[in-house]
Amino acid sequence: MWHPSEPIYYLTRTSGLPLSLTCFFGHFCFFHLGCLVFELLDKKGWLAGYKEFKGDQQRYLELLSQVLFNQFFILLPAMFLSETFGIAFDSLDRQNQPLRHSVWEYIPQAAWMTIGHDLFFYLGHRFLLHSAWGYHFFRHDVHHSTKASIALSSMYMASSDYLLEICVPYLVPLCLLKADAAFHFFAIALGSLGGMYEHSGYNFWPRLPGLSTMAHGMHHTRYNCSFSDGVGSSNIMDGLFRTSYEHVYPKWSGKKSIKDPVM
Ligand SMILES: [Zn+2]
Ligand SMILES: [Zn+2]
Repeated sequence: MWHPSEPIYYLTRTSGLPLSLTCFFGHFCFFHLGCLVFELLDKKGWLAGYKEFKGDQQRYLELLSQVLFNQFFILLPAMFLSETFGIAFDSLDRQNQPLRHSVWEYIPQAAWMTIGHDLFFYLGHRFLLHSAWGYHFFRHDVHHSTKASIALSSMYMASSDYLLEICVPYLVPLCLLKADAAFHFFAIALGSLGGMYEHSGYNFWPRLPGLSTMAHGMHHTRYNCSFSDGVGSSNIMDGLFRTSYEHVYPKWSGKKSIKDPVM
């Protein structure tokens, strides 16, 4: 019976690339195609009515070189080395056969990735990157020079920041997971979709739980709230520490769009 891991195993066999690099290039293509789609929307103004955060529309080429540097010189080696040293991308069973999990196994794995990601993202983001000394030391100001209004900016940050905000929250939970090739491949590709969307400035589904881009937009404009990763994240840590924008700014409580009237 066909399994979604088959094409991934086929890609690794025919290309000779390890699973980590196959996942990296899949994510790379998915991310840049997605960013180009959002760029096209910005240029044509087709969905301008949904655009809630603005300010970076002319910065695509300016941001691109740092994004590519981060992807090829930070994320790619981190993924490759974590597989080389046997701490992640383990997709074989005890008989060294490729795993083929069911959808019932994907659900707890996906839940763990979103909770684990939130944990490490929040701790690094709030207590290191937004600490009095860490904001400039780790150059988090580079990422905050954007207004969450262009999808590409989700990976526009200083390399030290990229290591803490992208690599650690993704790779550390992954190290504790035994998943098949399909899960590895789609986890990073779909993970980047949430980041792209919440940095795009668009807010297509503000009323659907977990799909409003308000939280990260508020983080970029106010700095002191909503430290979780927003769309695609469990956002449990913001709830535990009461740091969501709705807690910090009670007048915004219940507001999922900047178009909503403020109490
Ligand atoms: Zn951001
Ligand atoms: Zn921040």
